[in-house]
Amino acid sequence: MTIKVTNLLASDITCSNCKACCCSLEVMIISDTGVPSQHIYVDEHGSETMLRLDDGWCSALDRNTLMCSIYENRPWVCREFEMGSPECINERLIKL
Ligand code: SF4
Ligand code: SF4
Repeated sequence: MTIKVTNLLASDITCSNCKACCCSLEVMIISDTGVPSQHIYVDEHGSETMLRLDDGWCSALDRNTLMCSIYENRPWVCREFEMGSPECINERLIKL
């Protein structure tokens, strides 16, 4: 694993100065939170993930606001992905 050095303070990290970096990750759907079916991709084994479009982002991402359009029904994985966590910081370092 590559560790990058950053001067970014934890308090500087907020979704409003990001570009939805975590919303282009693969998101498994492992429980029913009411994700609308048009945003679900089902593979040949029946596994469900959030559908991603050609731009790489989740289809439920509002491209204008870069906010989740199904926030109340977002998958468990998205609920657990914490702003400011090491995973969040890493995605920002790679994609911003
Ligand atoms: S959780 Fe982190 S990576 Fe995801 S949009 Fe917010 S700041 Fe960006
Ligand atoms: S469901 Fe919402 S929070 Fe989760 S990846 Fe898609 S747009 Fe982002």
